Amino acid sequence: MSDVLILNGRVVDPASGIDEARDLLLRDGKIAALDKPGSLKNIEAAETIDASGLVVAPGLVDVHVHLREPGQTYKETIATGTAAAAAGGFTTVVAMPNTMPVNDSVAGLEWMLSPQRGAVVKLFAMPAATMGSMGATLTDFAALHKAGALGFTDDGKPILEDAIMREALIAAARLGVPISQHAEDTHLTGGCSMNAGPVAFRLGLRGMTIEAESRIVERDIRLLREIEKSEHLRPHLHVQHISTGRALEAIREAKRQGLHVTCEAAPHHFTLTDEAIGDYDTNAKMNPPLRAEADRQAVLAGLADGTVDCIATDHAPHAAHEKEQEFERAPNGITGLETALGLALRVLHRAQGLSLSKILSLMSTSPAAIVSLADRGSLAVGSIADVVVFDPAAQWNFAAKDSRSKSKNTPFDGASMLGRVHATVSEGRIVFRQ
Ligand SMILES: [Zn+2]
Repeated sequence: MSDVLILNGRVVDPASGIDEARDLLLRDGKIAALDKPGSLKNIEAAETIDASGLVVAPGLVDVHVHLREPGQTYKETIATGTAAAAAGGFTTVVAMPNTMPVNDSVAGLEWMLSPQRGAVVKLFAMPAATMGSMGATLTDFAALHKAGALGFTDDGKPILEDAIMREALIAAARLGVPISQHAEDTHLTGGCSMNAGPVAFRLGLRGMTIEAESRIVERDIRLLREIEKSEHLRPHLHVQHISTGRALEAIREAKRQGLHVTCEAAPHHFTLTDEAIGDYDTNAKMNPPLRAEADRQAVLAGLADGTVDCIATDHAPHAAHEKEQEFERAPNGITGLETALGLALRVLHRAQGLSLSKILSLMSTSPAAIVSLADRGSLAVGSIADVVVFDPAAQWNFAAKDSRSKSKNTPFDGASMLGRVHATVSEGRIVFRQ
């Protein structure tokens, strides 16, 4: 494979604590050198990226995306979704199993991960924890793990039965992988289409309470504690897209007690509140829903103090005709891969004052660690050559019509972004250039 040089950039690598001018040599898909500026100038590379004035960082990692293939390729394909990922600076994405059919078999997983699907960046998957994500019978964890599963989840269909969740946590712990849980007690949210509160009251919509989220988080933490005691295992619970202060408090306390719980927050939950729904805007409808300002502040505090381990987009493309119906009938979810970095820098870096290194840790090093990708999420020599080069000062407005995603369902059409991706390199290949 041909060499790529990235010269004159500010290298920010949270994994090794580097934040200084360095030149980078990528060779055979690996980071081959990370040296003082000027020291690589005699190397003849096939491609050279001049990163003057730009930040050079480990490629972003998203542990929660929906790529809709197989079964709903009118919304997105693995090729278009990963092209959007590359444009957003992501070099690794983890696909959720709620495809059609549900990804619950080795054959399905292998089909999804096959090079024939045309993924532009590295694609991994978390298959379903139960057959058909029906919450009744566990899938074959051992066989799926052998075929590349990074963990297991029923994603939008949370595992409600204590006994099944317990069995899933134990089986995953034996393999050293997480169970990712969408925390929602669906007994409490039937017929609800947004957050409970004054906005739902004004719009005349039924609202989901914060207890619907925290009850499942608290239940799952109790199961972790019981399993550690009775089975002498250390199960790993990963809570998806946390959206409430109450659930965050439970996670903060569980971490204090030493339990293995991690969680992610989505850019829309730290950027918007349920006011963004305005006059029934279905592009502001997702699950968990946009919450009140107090909960947004709690997510920001969790990101700052380490209770939130990583940022994940929950990229969830839907076709225009599906979103263009009455609010209660429209499907949940928004696209997110091309707006995540711009929102993180605008909201977390400029407004909240988090360092670039902290934000890059939340978007690369830490998510890579959650799913045990030891050779990604770092620019250390020998790591896989996944790199994002971006202008941290660029101000621009996102235009949904320019998205690489097949779907345009985003509340951020026209929104201002801080920081723009200049180039994305996946395993030593330049897969996006501005
Ligand atoms: Zn999801």
